[in-house]
Amino acid sequence: MAKYTYCKICNAFHYDNENCPPVFFIFHEEYMGNESQKIHACGFEEAAEKYAEHYDSQGDYNLANGNEITVTVQDEKGEQRRFKLSAEPTVNYSAEEIESEDN
Ligand SMILES: [Zn+2]
Repeated sequence: MAKYTYCKICNAFHYDNENCPPVFFIFHEEYMGNESQKIHACGFEEAAEKYAEHYDSQGDYNLANGNEITVTVQDEKGEQRRFKLSAEPTVNYSAEEIESEDN
């Protein structure tokens, strides 16, 4: 029986009888020079988004602080696409009941 489990090869959850999503190579010159970061994803855009999250958590939350970076995403066949990466902070609203001071 197939098990839904964390896969250490692609760092994501999927069934253990499923193949990992394809590999993409992220080129981010200002940060890694000629090195590339391997990311498993279902497409160019998803690979770019995953890299944005990875990059931001490694550094000082450059993107979350309103900056943008430009990367090149390359698939296994050598096709390249450029992406501009940024982040939108999410707002969490919260409510806390205030105890009445009357009683
Ligand atoms: Zn996998």
